[in-house]
Amino acid sequence: MKQSQLFAKTSRKLSESEASKNAQFLLRGGFIDKSSAGVYTLLPLGLRVLEKINKIIREEINAIGAEELLMPSLIQKKYWEKSGRWGVDVIYKTSTGTENKDKKDFEYGLGWTHEEVISAIAVKFINSYKDLPKAAYQIQTKFRAEARPQAGLLRGREFSMKDLYSFHESKEDLDNYYEKVINAYKNIFKRLGLKTLICETGGGDFTKEYTHEFQVLNPAGEDTIFYCEKCGFGQNQEVYKPEAHKNCKNPIQSGRAIEVGNIFKLGIKFSEAFGISFLNKNGEKKPVIMGSYGIGPTRVLGTIVEEFSDEYGIIWPETVAPFQVHLVELSGKDSDGKVTKAAMALYEKLVKNDIEVLYDDRDASTGEKLNDADLMGIPNRVVISEKTLAAKKIELKIRGSKKTDLISEAELIKILQK
Ligand code: ATP
Ligand code: MG
Repeated sequence: MKQSQLFAKTSRKLSESEASKNAQFLLRGGFIDKSSAGVYTLLPLGLRVLEKINKIIREEINAIGAEELLMPSLIQKKYWEKSGRWGVDVIYKTSTGTENKDKKDFEYGLGWTHEEVISAIAVKFINSYKDLPKAAYQIQTKFRAEARPQAGLLRGREFSMKDLYSFHESKEDLDNYYEKVINAYKNIFKRLGLKTLICETGGGDFTKEYTHEFQVLNPAGEDTIFYCEKCGFGQNQEVYKPEAHKNCKNPIQSGRAIEVGNIFKLGIKFSEAFGISFLNKNGEKKPVIMGSYGIGPTRVLGTIVEEFSDEYGIIWPETVAPFQVHLVELSGKDSDGKVTKAAMALYEKLVKNDIEVLYDDRDASTGEKLNDADLMGIPNRVVISEKTLAAKKIELKIRGSKKTDLISEAELIKILQK
């Protein structure tokens, strides 16, 4: 991709309405655009990152036998009434269209979670123990009327969620699957470069049992967690009891954290409300036991920026970077066009080798180009200038390190293909 052709541009300006690091860098770097409080566009660069996050999530969730589907966002009132959640604070309700005023079918709540919809589907396909277990997930936009949207992508009113739902014949089978999901989540967050702590917390209106959150220690987080690095103990402030950590001598630490994932054993609350039952081996009718498991990909995107940046901008982990390499042409006076020609040739060669490259072909000053490269945070920066041409080399700098290396083109391609 040539940088001169990007739909969005970088900006020097700090946004006054945004206090968080992720919002500032993502806005300035041309990754997102703000539409209203807690509502953002993912510009092409931001979408590239989000899709890499989603790809990792899909690979790991598919690996534990769940199938992807896509449920509606527009969800009729009757579904929410069945579970008793038509009255929750966060639900956005559609206002009745004028021509349909008298039709009660016209009332919808925008999807803020999908237990109701998946339950209404599952009841059609689950009849016998032979139909169990089952698991399905989606990656979809959720809507929540958050009282205080804040910290950029960390708390939005419209945001992306991966929500997975599982259906089981017994508590043991749910427990086993729950462990599988925990492992899948560990793989996901590791691949995303995020160090997570698993913390117990309350189940809200879902369940009386503890649920588990995947938390990233970070001062931008809204949660406070108590944890032990030695024994793996973790509890959210909401439920923290010091005596729960009695068996370990290591002192408890606490810190602010961002909740990137949350998993629940739902039990039979929704299967009862929606009548999801099955005939067991003895021909007895039993309610299906459910679990639900969320990750917020847009919150994850914001968290990655909170975790990986310096004073100049973002430092993307290789696994989610919008491009692998930022090729910066510094043509200076370059009266005979030699530098441009060499940069173009390298660009084409990288593309041919399936390396994702953003080529800064813009007519801009050296300072502007290098500052933008730091702001945008692509992991490998390659400079081509009269100086590098004279040395018959290219200059490679890893974002976040101070050192630059003069290497050959062949060496570069080898490094990038590793
Ligand atoms: P929180 O405690 O932060 O309000 P939650 O417990 O209500 O979130 P869930 O309903 O479990 O969240 O949603 C699953 C995941 O979706 C969360 O772990 C988080 O990553 C993401 N998420 C939830 N609310 C938001 C939001 N307003 N903006 C961005 N991501 C969100
Ligand atoms: Mg939560």
